[in-house]
Amino acid sequence: MLVTLAHDVRAGRRLAVVFSVAIGLAFGVPTEASALGARQAPPPSADPGGTPAETPSSLPTIRRIRCLRDCPSPSAAQAGAKIRVVGSGLAAVRKVVFQGAPGTADDVSTRARPRSDRSLVVAVPDGAVSGSLSAVAGRAARSRPSRPLTIVSDNSAEVDPAAPRAPSASSGASAFPVAGAHTYGGAGARFGADRGGRSHQGQDLMAACGTPVVAARSGVVRINRFQSLAGNYVVIDGTDGDSAYLHLTSPSPLTVGQTVTAGQQIATVGNTGNSRGCHLHFEMWAEPGYQRGAPIDPLSFLKALDSGG
Ligand SMILES: [Zn+2]
Repeated sequence: MLVTLAHDVRAGRRLAVVFSVAIGLAFGVPTEASALGARQAPPPSADPGGTPAETPSSLPTIRRIRCLRDCPSPSAAQAGAKIRVVGSGLAAVRKVVFQGAPGTADDVSTRARPRSDRSLVVAVPDGAVSGSLSAVAGRAARSRPSRPLTIVSDNSAEVDPAAPRAPSASSGASAFPVAGAHTYGGAGARFGADRGGRSHQGQDLMAACGTPVVAARSGVVRINRFQSLAGNYVVIDGTDGDSAYLHLTSPSPLTVGQTVTAGQQIATVGNTGNSRGCHLHFEMWAEPGYQRGAPIDPLSFLKALDSGG
């Protein structure tokens, strides 16, 4: 999912700081999933220093919740977003329950990955709705409900009317870049969505891995390579600016310098690089192009071309 390369790199740095995980700064950055996979051992039960052994009576307590990634705002989340739970007694927590409305009918839980006794990170599971969270360490060790967390539905389109307009798609020399079933994701998939203090510089289009990706605009292949954050990606230099296609399944068969016509298949939707879930991250750049000009919100361009989906 995600942004200009440059911005993705900064987001990666920011995450690295947040999670205190040693992450290579520009390249070799692990996916978020693997960064979060590092799990700390629970604290030893006996203190070799001779102070009285603490009984494990400290129930997990949630003090604060903050959405870290793929968030409409720091205080709201959506399915797939990473949230950080801060409190105490969290090291032994095994799962976090998204309680939703009163009663258990809409409860959804997810496995927790404690970073320490005071902090853990979880992904908001599919189906979670707004409500309190509780942290569960065992049968008799469950935190009191947290303050409610707002969870935004995945289909709630939020378009900033003040956002710059994309060029019109009326020329006929344009094609919708995903040739198959797709959705636009939630607010976190939008251009301008917060990425840990940086801005998402493209639009994510959710589609099954393997769905054909076609050139949205004609042009000349400027970049076709792999990068740890972008995954396999292609940049096409057109007369109106550049188009970028990120997280592709495998390297595009195109060669740099090759001319591509709008609608021509260039790759397939994938999940490579810093991506969670199959999707195409699509960017449009004003002249002089990718990472040199300004990024443009591609949503109106995409919607104008989108016949179904
Ligand atoms: Zn993206």
